[in-house]
Order: sequence, then structure tokens, then C-alpha cells
Amino acid sequence: MSIQEAQVSRADFDQVMVPNYAPAGFIPVRGLGSRLWDQSGRELIDLSGGIAVNGLGHCHPALVEALTTQAHKLWHVSNVFTNEPALRLARKLTAATFADRVFFSNSGAEANEAALKLARKVASDRFGADKYEIISTINSFHGRTVFTVNVGGQPKYSEGFGPRPEGITHVLYNDLAAMEKAISERTCAVILEPIQGESGVLPAELAYLQGVRALCDKYNALLIFDEVQSGMGRTGKLFAHEHYGVTPDVLTTAKSLGGGFPISAMLTTNDYAQHLAVGTHGTTFGGNPLACAVGETVLDIINTPAVLDAVLAKGEYLRDKLRAIGEPYDLFEQVRGKGLLVGAVLNDKYKGKAGALMAAAERADLLVLVAGPDVVRFAPSLVIEQADLDEGLARFTRAVAEFVSQAQA
Ligand SMILES: *Cc1c(COP(=O)(O)O)cnc(C)c1O
Repeated sequence: MSIQEAQVSRADFDQVMVPNYAPAGFIPVRGLGSRLWDQSGRELIDLSGGIAVNGLGHCHPALVEALTTQAHKLWHVSNVFTNEPALRLARKLTAATFADRVFFSNSGAEANEAALKLARKVASDRFGADKYEIISTINSFHGRTVFTVNVGGQPKYSEGFGPRPEGITHVLYNDLAAMEKAISERTCAVILEPIQGESGVLPAELAYLQGVRALCDKYNALLIFDEVQSGMGRTGKLFAHEHYGVTPDVLTTAKSLGGGFPISAMLTTNDYAQHLAVGTHGTTFGGNPLACAVGETVLDIINTPAVLDAVLAKGEYLRDKLRAIGEPYDLFEQVRGKGLLVGAVLNDKYKGKAGALMAAAERADLLVLVAGPDVVRFAPSLVIEQADLDEGLARFTRAVAEFVSQAQA
């Protein structure tokens, strides 16, 4: 039997894969909308959305069509040439945002890397070599390259990888006084998630974002919003910062941009973009025709009032239902988030057990996420059918009952 025909199972993971993940015990093989099937044919409801990536669910027909149509035309031409899907997607992204210019890459970390390199280049060109400090926030997440993992504010992810890059400071999120104390003429950029995703679905306060914007203006520092997770309609606006009316100088987005096909983007203005002149930055795969054809279709579908308004309404509905499910057990301290990025924060007596609740959900044929040890996170398809959402909530109700009885045992 050839390798291609050979049966593979979850046990193979432990033999042939680098053990940096601990995947579930089953292997998904097929998906449609908000449903997934594993090797045994078990059907699961997916309220995790591939960690906020499958913004249009699994195998959305329009995305399948866009990908396969492009697959018959052109896959890759290198950056020696430009290509039509990239130009179309860039036109649409700039028309829909504050930005004039786009740089495409393949992952959230790479988009952030580009944003941070841009900020340092702008500062170096305009103000000289001493303006390179980057301010980030505690518990933030910006990716796993050596640079972005150090910009991120979770030391457990950056320890053990040698000397840390210089010039990165971390301050408490939503603490304007701390930002004011940290920022100076040496600061080239402040990077923030408008909603901290990985560390617990924690939204920024309005006065905080407004205050940070003013500080960045005062000190000639670029304000970078990392909307890798919160962007592309996830919160009921195309980008989460639109809820606040606070505009960044640079925005990064990824996850839902390709709906499951790898693509990311860094967006900025003409004024700043000119600093990344020919030869200053690049990537082999960024902006390839397949990814951009899919991204264009994702944007066309998501960036409509009907879809975005429905995300807001479904988010309200989901949060209300989760509060009701938790109420009899006094399970949640708070159910927070915006649109369909939702975090249910466990009460004191259940702290640290988000993973156990996620496992109980899986036994009830339901996929949810955690965001740290205390928060159960939901990031379903933005176009989830009401029936799938309700079936998912029914399964979650059963999972919660099992979880609570075990936690008390
Ligand atoms: C997921 C995520 C990243 C990293 O994206 P990758 O595609 O894994 O590199 C960066 N920032 C935020 C806010 C994220 O949620």
C-alpha cells in the first residue's frame, strides 16, 4: 500500500508530528457550514470556527467556487509580477477601511512582523536610530515568530528561545496611566488588540483607546491595531476598532480573511507605506492568487450590512443564552465580547477548569474553545444557521450539566 492509501489515525500524531500541539482524540475529515464529521462519521457542531478562522463556516460554496476557479487559472507567479486577485482584494480592503495601501502575507505573525518593521523603519527614517521602542500589553498575543512572541505579553510563550530582542515594553491593558508612563520620544509604536482574544476575550475600554491614540499622536508613535482575530466581521463591524471610532495608523488582519485559506494583510496609509520602499521587505507566498481570490470572496460576502448586522444580533443572542445556561449553577462571572467573539468567564469556584468544560462539550459533540484557563471562548461561523446555533447551545447545556456534576464530585 502506498503512504497515500494507508490508513492514518490520531495515534500517528504522537509518532510523526513535532509534539507542540495536543490535538483532540478524533480527526475531522469533512465539514459543511457549522457541522464537522470525524473519521468514524460522528457529527459535531462547530462553535469554534477553527479559532476564529472559518468566518463563513466550512466549505462555503462561494469560497469553494472562488478557489477552484482560480486553481484552474494561476497559482503562483512570484513578486516579480503582480496578479489580478491581489490587486482586486487590495482595492476592496482599502475602499472599506482607513488605509490606502496593503501588504499581503500568510499568517497573523507575519502581518504583525511587517507592521512592526514598518513602524521601526518610519521612526528610523524620520527621527533617527534612537526611536525604536515598541510598547505592547501584558497578556497580549501577536504570533509565534521570535520577534512577535516577544512583543506578545505572555512570557510563558517567549521563554527559552535565547536573548530577547531589545526595545519592547509591556504595560497593563486598559490602564492609560501605565501607557502614559511608558511612552516617550523613543517609542516608535504601540501595538494593541482592540479585544484581547487569546488571553480571555477582553475588550478595550473606549477612553483607553482614545487616550492611547492621543499619546501616539503626541509622541509620533504609530498606533498598530492587531485585528488578526477581531477583524473581518468577527465583532459585527468589518474591523473591531470601528466600534470605538478610533483609527490606527497600521492594522493587521489574518484569521477570517481567508476563511480557512492562509492569508494575512497589513494595512496602512500612503504616508507610512512609502517607507517600505523596494527591497525593504518581502515574502515568497504573500499575496498569491489562490489566497487573494478566496479573500476577495470572503470580503464580498462579509462586508455587507445584512451579514454584519446578523453577527451583532447572533452575538447578543449567544451571550444571553450562555448567561441563562450558566445561571442555575452560578457558572459564569461574566459573559463578554463583541459580535461573535464571545468569552464566558468562569466563576471563582470553577476557575482553571475551562479546559475541562471544553472537553465535556466535545463529549456532547460540540466544539468550543478556551481563552486561557478561566474562559470558554466561542467564535462560530459568522453566517451560522439559527438551527445550528440552537443545536450547539442545546449540546452546551448538556455539557455544562455533566461538567458541573463532575466538578462537584
Ligand atoms: C492568532 C493571532 C495571531 C497569530 O496569527 P498566526 O496566523 O497564528 O501567526 C496574532 N495576533 C492575534 C490577535 C491572534 O489572535
